[in-house]
Amino acid sequence: MNAFRYERPSDALGAIALHAPRAQYIAGGTNLLDLMKDDVETPELIIDISRLPYSAIESSEAGVRVGALARMSDVADDIAVASRFPIVAEALLAGASPQLRNMATIGGNILQRTRCAYFRDPSQVCNKREAGSGCAALGGVNRMHAVIGASDDCIATNPSDLAVALTAVDAIVHVQGRAGEERAIPITDFYLLPGTTPRRENVLEPGDLIIAVEIPASAVAHNSTYLKIRDRASYEFALVSVGAGLERTGGVVRAARIVLGGVAPKPWRVSEAEARIVGTSGDAGAIDAAADAAIDGMRGYGENDFKIELVRRAVVRALQTVAA
Ligand code: SF4
Repeated sequence: MNAFRYERPSDALGAIALHAPRAQYIAGGTNLLDLMKDDVETPELIIDISRLPYSAIESSEAGVRVGALARMSDVADDIAVASRFPIVAEALLAGASPQLRNMATIGGNILQRTRCAYFRDPSQVCNKREAGSGCAALGGVNRMHAVIGASDDCIATNPSDLAVALTAVDAIVHVQGRAGEERAIPITDFYLLPGTTPRRENVLEPGDLIIAVEIPASAVAHNSTYLKIRDRASYEFALVSVGAGLERTGGVVRAARIVLGGVAPKPWRVSEAEARIVGTSGDAGAIDAAADAAIDGMRGYGENDFKIELVRRAVVRALQTVAA
């Protein structure tokens, strides 16, 4: 690990003013410290934002506003979140061990970096770590990698379970920028595909500070679930995950959300699959049709070909849960 300076500002504007090209914000530190130990991240300045006043969880009729520094465990245990947004609570509980949930923050969770092993090994080529160096995963071990949304420069997946759930409920990310202005970014616009610039993973500008995540109330969110398929029951990232929600009245599905995780560089909403189940009774035939649509356009890279059928089956199971 390289030597670095450490600052702990007392307000957001002070934190933003300290930000510089080789500075990093830190809160829970559960992702950044790992990357620093591996020499993947080598900041000259660490700006500790953990004491800024952004840890409240506020519930209203319109939804829930979660401070960016709220801990995963506090949000998962919040009664309003668990009862009105079960998909969010389930994703948080599936997303990390209890020890990590007690440290990791909501803002940090949605910014966590990929688990691609080559990204975390500076002896390997990786376009995300070093632009133009190549992608070792393309011809290497790619069992965990993307089957949709990837590019010839990067096939890594986004590892955040929470981001999948937040995408399914149309969450909004609130950001404070360099000039002190606050911006509201729909999470569906927050993440970027790798294209030829895989290092840039989201729309944040240098110095931007996430201050809150707003989760609007909806019938789909109320009847939702998060299904995570992984190699072992805990302390493991998703091979495939599905965030699903249905609004059904009078025996007819009025609205649906199906978002995939573990298969793309960002949470992958499958609108075509949603369209196959809206207007039906949510019967087995409609669920099968939605699952078939969910895998349309997917391609594997050898070791991860199995994910495509796994997605189809996971979508069926998640939709059966919310249709029951
Ligand atoms: Fe790097 Fe992306 Fe290739 Fe992994 S998949 S080695 S993160 S460029």
